[in-house]
Amino acid sequence: MTDRYAVIGNPISHSKSPLIHAAFARQTHQAMQYDALLSPLDGFQAITRHFQEHGGKGLNVTVPFKLEAHQLATRLTDRAANAQAVNTLKFEQEEILGDNTDGAGLVRDIECNLGVPLINKRILLMGAGGAARGVILPILLQQPLLLTITNRTPEKARALKQQFSPHGDLMASDYGMLRDRQFDIIINATSASLNDALPELFPGLFERTMLVYDMMYGSELTRFLRYAQQHGAPRLADGLGMLVEQAAESFFVWRGIRPETQPVIAMLKSSN
Ligand code: NDP
Repeated sequence: MTDRYAVIGNPISHSKSPLIHAAFARQTHQAMQYDALLSPLDGFQAITRHFQEHGGKGLNVTVPFKLEAHQLATRLTDRAANAQAVNTLKFEQEEILGDNTDGAGLVRDIECNLGVPLINKRILLMGAGGAARGVILPILLQQPLLLTITNRTPEKARALKQQFSPHGDLMASDYGMLRDRQFDIIINATSASLNDALPELFPGLFERTMLVYDMMYGSELTRFLRYAQQHGAPRLADGLGMLVEQAAESFFVWRGIRPETQPVIAMLKSSN
């Protein structure tokens, strides 16, 4: 019997998850099938239940369904409960386990693949949506000196500061108040790059950084990374490594095996 998995989202045709999981399955000799499911915006629950009832073992959940997946889960891991967003569902008899592997994926990409430890760093996280929520606790667990969250709608950044303050040194800031601040690592967790837009930045922000990271990825530098490069950022990274690392973490949740990520990252880079 081949176990069935899929990624569900809207839109979904651009997703690289089927390629990534097919590569993991080949590498680890797992008999599994992994598809992409396009869900109507009001159809997430129905499609997910249909998939489960027809033998599906697990789903990756992407934009815009991570909050609905959080509500649908009957049991949550700690990291999903803290993020209040779910990107991985595992179906076990009647139970639906909800997990969030985005944060583990980001931390592993920055620390292991890019070789930049987060400990004692001044980190700026831009954005307060589902992706940002998922990475705050995993970043704080690495003991940065200070994590500053900034967002276009500042109340959302303040709410996240409130929620996560018990776990580490956190600050919420408006974009306009970043002018006199310095950061070692800047992470763009906004969806601005999806629309080729830029958050409200000022050029000097990037001059003394050691790494500027955009969670978005593509065949070319995102507008955000181009802007950072033009304004002195010495090192840039996009979210392709995070994508593969979060997928590997989901694969581990489902199959109990940790696949090698380096060959898969290399394959995706060479096919770009
Ligand atoms: P959400 O829709 O949940 O959140 C979007 C965030 O971006 C909000 O904070 C919003 O601010 C902010 N934003 C949108 N447009 C702008 C703009 N023009 N200027 C400033 N801020 C803006 O999206 P997600 O959090 O789910 O995803 C964010 C990004 O992360 C996407 O690009 C996604 O592709 C990427 N991602 C990558 C992953 C990977 O593995 N590489 C995994 C998960 C996500 P406001 O609150 O004011 O609306």
